[in-house]
Amino acid sequence: MAHLLLIEDDATIRASLIRALGERGHATSSAPTAMAGLRAAVDERPDLVVLDLGLPDLDGRDMLRMLRAVSDVPVIVATARDEEPEMVGALDAGADDYVVKPYSADQLDARIRAVLRRAGEPKPDTAVTVGGLRIDLRTREATLDGAPLELAPKEFDLLHYLAVRAGEVVAKRELLTEVWRLPYGGADKTVDVHISWLRRKLGETAQEPRYLHTVRGVGVKLAAPE
Ligand code: CA
Repeated sequence: MAHLLLIEDDATIRASLIRALGERGHATSSAPTAMAGLRAAVDERPDLVVLDLGLPDLDGRDMLRMLRAVSDVPVIVATARDEEPEMVGALDAGADDYVVKPYSADQLDARIRAVLRRAGEPKPDTAVTVGGLRIDLRTREATLDGAPLELAPKEFDLLHYLAVRAGEVVAKRELLTEVWRLPYGGADKTVDVHISWLRRKLGETAQEPRYLHTVRGVGVKLAAPE
């Protein structure tokens, strides 16, 4: 039996879905707000989350990003708005599938079963290795010589971006647009500051770099120590 978490602010929809999904063999818990839903997703470790995009406390896409920072649980988003940008935004932010309100319990159930089937398939190894560094995009875990690194989300994204391009000098401008989604012309101190934080966490300094090499006026390179 799958354990579902339903994040939905409408009490009537909540009650009827919990009953309908129960009849279809799913155990469903629920949360009425995004913040309560995030807590439940972490505490209860559900097999799948059904997320209403119209919640009172947080924009659905922000909610998805926060959820993705702490969990890779499959997510089906539900929205009242049959708008393509809304769907594309939700899928980009990490949703696995979506339903448009009003949807039937049978339709939701079919999508739940399809998403759970896909989630159960063995996944290819998504980790990148550079020397003693291992960065797993799927679990968002990074280790150095087997020891876990405590990285903030942007530090992780930066390290991963550089690791898949190991040995190449990556321009700060590219990092700002690709990692921070900032237009060119943004303050490139952002990159410098994050590089210095990463250096500290990797146990190295700008004077004696091991993995992170700054090429003055050009950019940054991640490479395995000699
Ligand atoms: Ca709603």
